Amino acid sequence: MDASPAARQPIVGMVGAGQLARMTHQAAIALGQSLRVLAADPADPAALVCPDVHPGTPSDLPALRAFARGCSAVTFDHEQVPQENLRALVDAGVRVHPGPDALLHAQDKLVMRRRLAGLGLAGPAFTEVREPGDVAGFAAEHGWPVVLKAARGGYDGRGVWLLRNADEAQLVTELLAAGTPLLVEEAVSMRRELAALVARSPFGQAAAWPVVETVQEDGQCVQVLAPAPGLDPDVAAGAQEMALRIAAELGVTGLLAVELFERTDGVLVVNELAMRPHNSGHWTIEGSRTSQFEQHLRAVLDYPLGATAPTAHAVVMANVLGAARSPVMSMDERVHHLFARFPDVKVHLYGKAERPARKVGHVTVLGDDMAAVRARAALAAAWLSTAEWPDGWSPHSGSREQEVQRA
Ligand code: ADP
Repeated sequence: MDASPAARQPIVGMVGAGQLARMTHQAAIALGQSLRVLAADPADPAALVCPDVHPGTPSDLPALRAFARGCSAVTFDHEQVPQENLRALVDAGVRVHPGPDALLHAQDKLVMRRRLAGLGLAGPAFTEVREPGDVAGFAAEHGWPVVLKAARGGYDGRGVWLLRNADEAQLVTELLAAGTPLLVEEAVSMRRELAALVARSPFGQAAAWPVVETVQEDGQCVQVLAPAPGLDPDVAAGAQEMALRIAAELGVTGLLAVELFERTDGVLVVNELAMRPHNSGHWTIEGSRTSQFEQHLRAVLDYPLGATAPTAHAVVMANVLGAARSPVMSMDERVHHLFARFPDVKVHLYGKAERPARKVGHVTVLGDDMAAVRARAALAAAWLSTAEWPDGWSPHSGSREQEVQRA
């Protein structure tokens, strides 16, 4: 028997090796562990840094079984895992967190909408689309525009289409012919988008972080503001309670991110669910006593959960997106210049090739004043993305931040 300290540590296996797995691995290291990943591609962000990489995809059951062997718990960095394979693992005695019954609600938007409606939670009006006429019928009742969605397989707004009128509904015929399962929803008039992130352990312990605002551009989250500015404390508490209730009702183990719309009348409605570390929780690495990545490990291993108190009054996470044009400087040079201007900005790069609009990293800024923190995060992310300062700053135009740092 191997009596080395490493052999006595639990192994968490994460299906998928993207940036979420990469950052979970960082948290695992601090706990004396090392994440095992199932990687579709050796160049995936976590496959580049984890020593325990199993090549394969979750649709390959033999590969999935071999990966799960010896794992204390198996969890996910994405939802694209066939239900039958998850059930095969559970039947073989593997601890899968979240289990397939819970995860289904993050895999299938129609199943999720029906379940949440059954729980009496407010959501957009919706219906399944079986034939093209269903969309026109729904619009006759709820008005144009409507939002058409692929029930399965979408992410970052791919698989979501705003249809303004009956002419645009031609798309429905094409998607149905291609076998895409569809639903249609009313287009919600909203002030902004929010997210409520909670964790729940198999034991049943649960913890919630402050509700955040997720700032969207072109269907993609660009910034996360923690806590959501100006949100009524009672409404925020209500959103946390709703997320905890969904986690308990659905039997979620690990993290649950509830994406919310704040309607123009102030009511919060659920957009969708994710059961894994989530972009809306990256701010917790520096901005909370326990990061979402550590908490996910603690939850799937059924450890006591960590404190979720924020470490600053205002925390902003900004995604670093691949630029439309290739930047003139290497990423390393951009990081160097960023640090010279903003010594306090924390950078997380995912080891991904830069392509337009692709999330290749994020920055986090902490402070007292949300507007100031947000402005710094926006500058930092734009610089890393494009090698251009949106405010025209140059190293010669002043070094105020460095002066402040020295003082
Ligand atoms: P994905 O699974 O690709 O993240 P979402 O269901 O979260 O897709 O939708 C992506 C974005 O589309 C949302 O963040 C929101 O901006 C917009 N959206 C989705 N559903 C609606 C809706 N019913 N009404 C208005 N906007 C919507």
